[in-house]
Amino acid sequence: MSKQIYKVEFSIDNLSLAEQNKFYKKLISMLDEDQRYNLHITITDVLGGKHHIWDGIGFDPNGRLCRECKSIDCEDCSTYIARENIRNGKSTDNTGSN
Ligand SMILES: [Zn+2]
Repeated sequence: MSKQIYKVEFSIDNLSLAEQNKFYKKLISMLDEDQRYNLHITITDVLGGKHHIWDGIGFDPNGRLCRECKSIDCEDCSTYIARENIRNGKSTDNTGSN
């Protein structure tokens, strides 16, 4: 007889940074080490960027992976800003493959 296990996703709209931080701290304090290991948190910013802060990755508003995303807001992410500068013709770099 195997134990039934589930992946459970919760989401809350319209949280401020302070509220988000408060819930985050409470949640972490309730979890044991294994549960923390299995925790994933996704924050969607106003631009539509998705930030998986616990996993250290994110997706910008164009859906492109950001491997080092430590930001919870694409406007503060140097990777995103650099890409936008390229898109807006502020660089002659053509390493991107859009
Ligand atoms: Zn990023």
